[in-house]
Amino acid sequence: MNQYKLSRTIPPDIKLKIRQNSKFGCVVPNCRNAFYTYEHLIPEFKDAITHDPDNICLTCSNHNPRRTGKNKQENYTKAQLMDFYIKLQENEIVPEIRNNDFFNGFNVEPQIKIGKSIFNRIASIINIDGLNVFSFQKSDIEDIFAPQYTFSGTFYNSLGKLLFRIEKNEWSSPTNHWDVQTTNGEIKIWDRSKQLVFGARKFPFTNTIEITELDMWFKPFHLKIDSESLLVGRYADDMETWIYFSIEGTFNSGNCGIFLTSSELFKTPVWAGWQIVGGKGATITGNGIWLGRGATQMLIFRIDYLKSDNIPEVIILSKPKKVNPPLNAHYFVKGVLITEIVNYPLWNEKVYYLNGQKLENEPNSWGQIDSETNEHLYYIASNEPSDLSLNSGFIGFYADDVLNEHWSDKVFEAEVIDIDLQGNEIVRRVKRSEISGRIVVSELNPFTNKYWHPHAFGDSPWRNGKLLNY
Ligand SMILES: [Zn+2]
Repeated sequence: MNQYKLSRTIPPDIKLKIRQNSKFGCVVPNCRNAFYTYEHLIPEFKDAITHDPDNICLTCSNHNPRRTGKNKQENYTKAQLMDFYIKLQENEIVPEIRNNDFFNGFNVEPQIKIGKSIFNRIASIINIDGLNVFSFQKSDIEDIFAPQYTFSGTFYNSLGKLLFRIEKNEWSSPTNHWDVQTTNGEIKIWDRSKQLVFGARKFPFTNTIEITELDMWFKPFHLKIDSESLLVGRYADDMETWIYFSIEGTFNSGNCGIFLTSSELFKTPVWAGWQIVGGKGATITGNGIWLGRGATQMLIFRIDYLKSDNIPEVIILSKPKKVNPPLNAHYFVKGVLITEIVNYPLWNEKVYYLNGQKLENEPNSWGQIDSETNEHLYYIASNEPSDLSLNSGFIGFYADDVLNEHWSDKVFEAEVIDIDLQGNEIVRRVKRSEISGRIVVSELNPFTNKYWHPHAFGDSPWRNGKLLNY
């Protein structure tokens, strides 16, 4: 608000009038840049009583009088800008508009090409945790100077610093450390060090906009176009462990082409496969990358990856599988077994309780862990109706029971989705260990943040990975 309690926000109908008066570009002759902001001329905003469209024009970043001394551009005074603005409105000869160079000239809605991937009618091409990285939208303004399409985006540089935002061609910026141009059918955006962070070029005859340059950080993600491939990098907290995915596919009619979420990350970047998940699209497991979110049609030709040397040698090769609850799974449970005899009129039956949970059959002890409490480690080849993974002594499953891979495959660490008795999804972090030659995946102990492991149990019957009393 200024001294006359006038808000900085210009109402939408006045903004439209200003865009029309400015013929949808910077008012400076021979500039006509299609990315602009709204500039109060005379009086300046601080002295303005109203948002008068006759006193507000569009200027691009280079010709914004408040942005002095940038890029060695000549700076115009507010009086000079007012003069350009009046002449532009009075001019009976239609000025050539530079935004024709980028946002007009398409016969039908353009497809967006990045590397070898194609995006058609996708609302947000790249989105990170709900933040639109960039998108193209059809404009509904009917004016011969109005762009057919507008551009929105959030631009960070190669160091992860916010450069500026564009919302339907209107830019706003917290800093001056960038430069943007829309000329000769191209959009180019540089950061302060003259590093090109974004570039796009239009090809109206094939109705294509091609993203030619991309180099932006949204930690822990890095977006880059390299050798005509779109690379999505994902880093560990230490920034020394990383994996890059090269993606090739076609995505049609959807909410988001590439959706990155920091809420679905394995601690360490790994290649753990990818799968189609309803509502998400194709997900690259454990790396927070969803492809084709909400797309009605999608073809993925290829997902390649390149990883740093320090990614653990034994990486996940398995896709987590939904266990609902795990029927016929083999359980490892530690605890004290209590046997009760139930008398029927003609016979007796034994019922077993392990940590209070009822079992149908007698479990196999894999050895006594604690002679005082008579705690054992039980291996249960189970037809048990109850889900023993809800047992307080639960340690783990055989890998082949919970992962889509044979137990002999390399399994280092994974997440397994269980469903509890109330139907809630529980994500378990599991880790492999080995008992008598078979791979066991163990659950993370939420209290100690360590994995349950038979070797860690005090008087364990295991020594050096061998079971002694079996
Ligand atoms: Zn300009």
